[in-house]
Amino acid sequence: MRHQMTNTAPDAVAVRAWPNRTYPGFYVIEVKCPHCPKNHTHGWEGPGDPGGHRASHCDAIGGYNITIPDGFKADAP
Ligand SMILES: [Zn+2]
Repeated sequence: MRHQMTNTAPDAVAVRAWPNRTYPGFYVIEVKCPHCPKNHTHGWEGPGDPGGHRASHCDAIGGYNITIPDGFKADAP
């Protein structure tokens, strides 16, 4: 049983993250969109940020919940 947000949005699994060069100290995270064939990027606070609900960049209704897989590692700064 996972205790995450209880809305009905589908999961968008993180595939990669790297340091955000525009906002030092933050990251950009790439997720696999459950609504369309693309991956989308979002701001991410880095390891420890559980992701959570976001509006999808393809404007799919309901957005999705960014999900960080076990063992996920962001690129080094
Ligand atoms: Zn999409």
